[in-house]
Amino acid sequence: MRTLFTHGTIVPMDGTATALAMLVEDGRILAVADDLRPGDGTHVIDLHGHTVVPAFADCHTHLTFTGCQVVDGSLAGCRSVAELSDVLLQAVRAQPAGGIVRRWNLDDARFADRRPVQADLDAVSRAVPIVLSRVGNGASLLNSAAMSAIGLDRTVPTVEMRDGERTGWTWGEANHEALEFAVLSLTDAEIAAVARAAADLAVQEGVTTLHAIEGSFAGQAAGDRGRSNQWLERLLPVLGDLPITVVPLDSQLDSPADLARIAANGHKVAGGDLFLDGVLGAAYISGMARAALDDPYADGQGGSGHLLLDDATVTSFLMEAARHGVSLGAHAVGERAIAQFLDAWERVVDAEPEARRLRPRIDHGILPREADIDRAGSLGVLFSLQPVFERRSGGPSGQYAGRIGPARSRRTHRFRSLLRAGVTLVGGSDSPMNRIAPLEGIGAAVDHSVESERLTPLEALAMFTTGAAKAGGLEQERGTLSPGKLADFVVLTGDPLDPRQLEACRVRETWRLGRKLWVSAAPRAPLI
Ligand SMILES: [Zn+2]
Ligand SMILES: [Zn+2]
Repeated sequence: MRTLFTHGTIVPMDGTATALAMLVEDGRILAVADDLRPGDGTHVIDLHGHTVVPAFADCHTHLTFTGCQVVDGSLAGCRSVAELSDVLLQAVRAQPAGGIVRRWNLDDARFADRRPVQADLDAVSRAVPIVLSRVGNGASLLNSAAMSAIGLDRTVPTVEMRDGERTGWTWGEANHEALEFAVLSLTDAEIAAVARAAADLAVQEGVTTLHAIEGSFAGQAAGDRGRSNQWLERLLPVLGDLPITVVPLDSQLDSPADLARIAANGHKVAGGDLFLDGVLGAAYISGMARAALDDPYADGQGGSGHLLLDDATVTSFLMEAARHGVSLGAHAVGERAIAQFLDAWERVVDAEPEARRLRPRIDHGILPREADIDRAGSLGVLFSLQPVFERRSGGPSGQYAGRIGPARSRRTHRFRSLLRAGVTLVGGSDSPMNRIAPLEGIGAAVDHSVESERLTPLEALAMFTTGAAKAGGLEQERGTLSPGKLADFVVLTGDPLDPRQLEACRVRETWRLGRKLWVSAAPRAPLI
């Protein structure tokens, strides 16, 4: 069947001019031009002046965590220990025998009374394991039943102790084990519901491709060998039933040897959150890893963060990935972590020049050294950025400035500098840290507080379309509205290419393979 979309502004994102009409046949783009005429039997759809851009991809999401918040429930609004106890008591009562209670987004920093601890959870139940993940998933609070079920009722360095007693709080390795325990407790039906919930959120924001970073990070420091990624293996069978494309990034990277398993399973991209360092902006608890900086933090907590893996291990991860034809992504936030990745990749391409055809990516890449911006460009390393973090934490009075001082905080998220150096920018959200919402990401890249780092709307759009397609190795099929490509596109209200209209832009419809997947219930925006 042929469909002609007329009276719109089609933005092909392939370097050709915008056009008034687009012809789609059998799920693919046939033509984009001003003067397309419907032939016999062509179905005609009037776009009423709205703008059409390629469907978005979000290249950094944690799909399971995103869906779990919907299916299990979020504690984001909880503000006191008493309120938390009530919620948990009901959850325990509703739990079938042998089940566990999982809740997400515990925001203890905003509790009006005090921080909840294990004793509060034990007062609710000592029998049913309770795992509460803190907002951002960097820490979790467990009751004693969960502690013993996971095997954390021994001395583990990343289990918090006060006066010789466990407080129930975990971070780092122990937190990863707690999250793995929580996710693997999902039933098959719950996994299907979790994936579906995340896909539904994506579709409403114009996203038809999600990079899902899935797997326990529990072995990354321990170097466990030979573990399969059960987390991902249980998710894979339901991905085919989703209305969108999910690119699974196996992140069960306990050792470089895991790359052989990942390649054998047919995956071409992996990692995304192979942790080279910690965090810069997120609310952390003492002991949590911080981003590895060149100079000390400015927040009075001392130190300059540290690298989580040694140089040889990082090189070995990238070398194994290259040998198996896998494009690997690593979480690198601070200058030293970014440099460590680039150093390692330089060694790989020196040894194996063929590796240059791969798309290794630095995820987050918040604070690169000046010289590393050019180096990333010449090495062909992609930067997978989440611009909303800059909006949330950047600027002279933002959280970054509090941590590293105002001068260095002007050097976070170097969108334009990276682009000028020839680096392919890739857009994402780090959902559930931020919402899956590419239009918000695009807006944040366009209004960076440092004017010289701002992107134009078209450049920012490319992060979530053409750049994203490249990161997934999907550029033959996606990313632009060129003849022959898949008819995955979104209809937007307003003009996304006009910076003044960008904030008001909304996703009106999401189309996949030439079929309407989703339509906004909101009334049609007035025409200009
Ligand atoms: Zn990360
Ligand atoms: Zn992440």
